[in-house]
Amino acid sequence: MSDFHPGDAVAVIDHRGKWLGNGYVNPRSLICARVVSRTPGAVLGPELLAHRLQAALALRERLYRAPYYRWVFGETDGLPGLVVDRYADIVVVQINTAGMERVRTDIVAAIEAIANPAGILLRNDVASRTLEGLDRYTEHVSGSIPETIELEENGARFAVSLERGHKTGWYFDQRDNRQRLAALVAGRRVLDVFSYVGGWGVAAAVHGASDVTCVDSSTPALELARHNAALNDVTDRVRTVEADAFDALAAIRSEPTRYDVIVLDPPAFIKRRRDIDQGALAYRRLNLAALRLLADDGILVTCSCSYHLSREQFTDALRRSALKAARAVQIFAEGQQAADHPVHPAMPETRYLKAHFARAIAPF
Ligand code: SAH
Repeated sequence: MSDFHPGDAVAVIDHRGKWLGNGYVNPRSLICARVVSRTPGAVLGPELLAHRLQAALALRERLYRAPYYRWVFGETDGLPGLVVDRYADIVVVQINTAGMERVRTDIVAAIEAIANPAGILLRNDVASRTLEGLDRYTEHVSGSIPETIELEENGARFAVSLERGHKTGWYFDQRDNRQRLAALVAGRRVLDVFSYVGGWGVAAAVHGASDVTCVDSSTPALELARHNAALNDVTDRVRTVEADAFDALAAIRSEPTRYDVIVLDPPAFIKRRRDIDQGALAYRRLNLAALRLLADDGILVTCSCSYHLSREQFTDALRRSALKAARAVQIFAEGQQAADHPVHPAMPETRYLKAHFARAIAPF
């Protein structure tokens, strides 16, 4: 591999010499090659990019009426190393690999030709770029990018910061799970832990929750959560608590307050395979702390976006937490990431998001 440079285009050939596909490599990566096409002659360049971007867009346009979605989800859309999120006429691009970085200009040109956006922002500031030997930067590549933009999801509006927010500003992957919760919150007290800008909590208030507490450790995230409550006219039912989630849950335990609905949507606790045990412990501690604050007949929505943790392992973490909390729980629904993050059948890592909806059954 030392003869290659990061991002070099290659033909992938099996041990018998049979051609498998075209791709690119990075000798610094543990992934030996990323395949971009299984059609001879199709290489990563303007034509292939335009074709793949069109194909990805066609799915999203069938799925959603409003133009807010993940337009490209890497490998599953045939573009390994590329993420594109669409916020109406602003497009945010994240290039994660050296191979994709080489065609950066072609990516921008293809997006302009297809969507003619008012602005394109490159959020090439993700930590994984360092592993690829790439620098980290954010850049306005065309048009102007407003300080915050507004999107709509399941009937609620949210302002997000594309330049400074997490990911590209918004967690599109929870759309369907948030919608499922919306039907369950009318008249209920809701605790949204790791709330970010209020994706779950503000939506719950919009759908009739009697009061909502959003907990997050980030000041700018909670500023936007309050702004979003105002945007949806639910300020009187949403409050924010700036704190470490574990500390906040422990503090609430000594109060009489109990919640009808608790959402746990933390950042990935497991970033590397060797962190599975420690990460699973963190999920157990978190679920335990939440179960202790849940009213009888209350609903716990517990999520994990750690792809190293399987659905079974995640269920087991919940089982163990419930046992320790002496609560009987029943999982009545399980969610995954929304359809604009499609799953590649050969790549289990692409099915990364788990959302268990569990009810704590009242003891008899
Ligand atoms: N639930 C959000 C996404 C959560 S992202 C949504 O639906 O959009 C994870 C959030 O956890 C971030 O906002 C981050 O600021 C926050 N966070 C990370 N570590 C934390 C901690 N120890 N305590 C509280 N919040 C934390």
